[in-house]
Amino acid sequence: MNFKLSEEQELIKQAARDFAKNELLPGVIDRDEKQEFPKDEVKKMGELGFLGMMVDPKYNGSGLDTLSYVLVMEELSKVDASSSVIVSVNNSLVCWGIEKFGTDEQKEKYLKKLATGEIIGAFCLSEPEAGSDATSQKTTAIDKGDHYVLNGTKNWITNGGTAAVYLVIAQTDKDKKHRGINALIVEKGMDGFEVGPKENKLGIRGSDTHSLIFNDVKVPKENRIGEDGFGFKFAMKTLAGGRIGIAAQALGIAAGAYELALKYSKERKAFGTEISNHQAIAFKLADMHTQIQAARLLVYQAAKDKDNGDNYDLSGAMAKLYASQVAMETTVEAVQIHGGNGFVKDYHVERLMRDAKITQIYEGTSEIQKIVISRSIIG
Ligand SMILES: Cc1cc2nc3c(=O)[nH]c(=O)nc-3n(C[C@H](O)[C@H](O)[C@H](O)COP(=O)(O)OP(=O)(O)OC[C@H]3O[C@@H](n4cnc5c(N)ncnc54)[C@H](O)[C@@H]3O)c2cc1C
Repeated sequence: MNFKLSEEQELIKQAARDFAKNELLPGVIDRDEKQEFPKDEVKKMGELGFLGMMVDPKYNGSGLDTLSYVLVMEELSKVDASSSVIVSVNNSLVCWGIEKFGTDEQKEKYLKKLATGEIIGAFCLSEPEAGSDATSQKTTAIDKGDHYVLNGTKNWITNGGTAAVYLVIAQTDKDKKHRGINALIVEKGMDGFEVGPKENKLGIRGSDTHSLIFNDVKVPKENRIGEDGFGFKFAMKTLAGGRIGIAAQALGIAAGAYELALKYSKERKAFGTEISNHQAIAFKLADMHTQIQAARLLVYQAAKDKDNGDNYDLSGAMAKLYASQVAMETTVEAVQIHGGNGFVKDYHVERLMRDAKITQIYEGTSEIQKIVISRSIIG
């Protein structure tokens, strides 16, 4: 339970903090307003090693632990949750999934480029009728000997328009239900693969969310991840780690809003004194600080569990459930502390409040986290 950061972890945290302040902050309001993907910023994050943080250096990764990754996620998310979700998907879903379960050839061909950010990846599980109920896959991957033929539609895919590599979950054998599902690596540009229009979103507007359409896309068999029928297990195992990244994102959004609210409360005066001197405001700050620290401990615990090779299904679900709740509550209070200024874009807290909501929805809604947690404790 020792969460004292090593010197290296402190340096990584500081590097992410500096990057967020110097590179992400200047354009963040504009990108949010225009729904603009942070192309240059993603390139720079690749150069800093933020896009393949846990990948083995032999595949061009940074070879760091999960705790270092969540430190970076927290710092980036304090400023720009749109950029941090790109980092999260590439690291915990795409790179981790290929490194853990992919073949040597898949790692050589895809992971080396994904880890440096030369290309980015997307993780494609959700469908119009299969979100929380991910077993109801309608997308099919029919086995044709040396290749699969992929048909169907995926919804809400982060990095949908910008990715070059897509991990697509699809049903091969309906009779085998979730044991008949496969995970395939699909490349942008394969015949019959079309990217749908970009979603116009409440939050994380700088991230790029699209539906994807597959019409008789021929995917070579060597692009399947794992054994035949491993796809559903692959998705669940990958998402279990992904949740730690999203929990860290939620933590960062909360901490970013809290830092802004604390600063503002010491500058803004009402009734002849700084508003932080009014107990109603001071107590809000006390609650925020306490809840954020509790969330941080849960996130660090989940990261440590993963690094130690322990089971992190429960700790990851608890971290995501709680951190996302804290993100929502803290950002609402941060807007309140800013008064009217909280309601306009220049002060950043309204964006953080809008961004916070998604952390209760993607990579398993809060209700789904409670199912994971209750099953784990009840048995
Ligand atoms: C911006 C954004 C980015 C996303 N990125 C990706 C991505 O990159 N890849 C990807 O595959 N998906 C992605 N998603 C999809 C996301 O993971 C799903 O939206 C989410 O899992 C919920 O699924 P759903 O929208 O179908 O809601 P539903 O599953 O229809 O749920 C609706 C409501 O019912 C509740 N509910 C459902 N089942 C139960 C139950 N058994 N018990 C209690 N309550 C239940 C849910 O908690 C929710 O409140 C993204 C979504 C968004 C909005």
